[in-house]
Amino acid sequence: MPRPSDHAVAVTRLLEEAQGPLSADEVRQALAETGIGIATVYRLLKRGVEDGRYIPIEIPNGPTHYEPADRPHHHHFECLTCHRVYDVMGCPGHLDELTPEGFSLESHDVLLRGHCVTCSETPTP
Ligand SMILES: [Zn+2]
Ligand SMILES: [Zn+2]
Repeated sequence: MPRPSDHAVAVTRLLEEAQGPLSADEVRQALAETGIGIATVYRLLKRGVEDGRYIPIEIPNGPTHYEPADRPHHHHFECLTCHRVYDVMGCPGHLDELTPEGFSLESHDVLLRGHCVTCSETPTP
């Protein structure tokens, strides 16, 4: 039985190596062999956010996803088939041009939606 701190290390390593932010359920599934429970996953993710090590990514109509806080600025792609969320490098930028006159822009989120390469290659029956 791994010690709780082993779980914390495993979650951090998983998030760092993932191709995009992960939901609590995806974390639990990926670390199933460590015997981690969903309550522990939620607790570690919450603590990571409180410590400023993880950032919660809100996915509309989906579970919150988490990623390491030290990623450079990037955006996300949600696959509508497998519901995985991938990192997308780059930024459309110039969003201040969309900002209404007199408003000041602080930050932005861009979420692309479609089908990932794995799901695009699998013909739907
Ligand atoms: Zn997919
Ligand atoms: Zn951007």
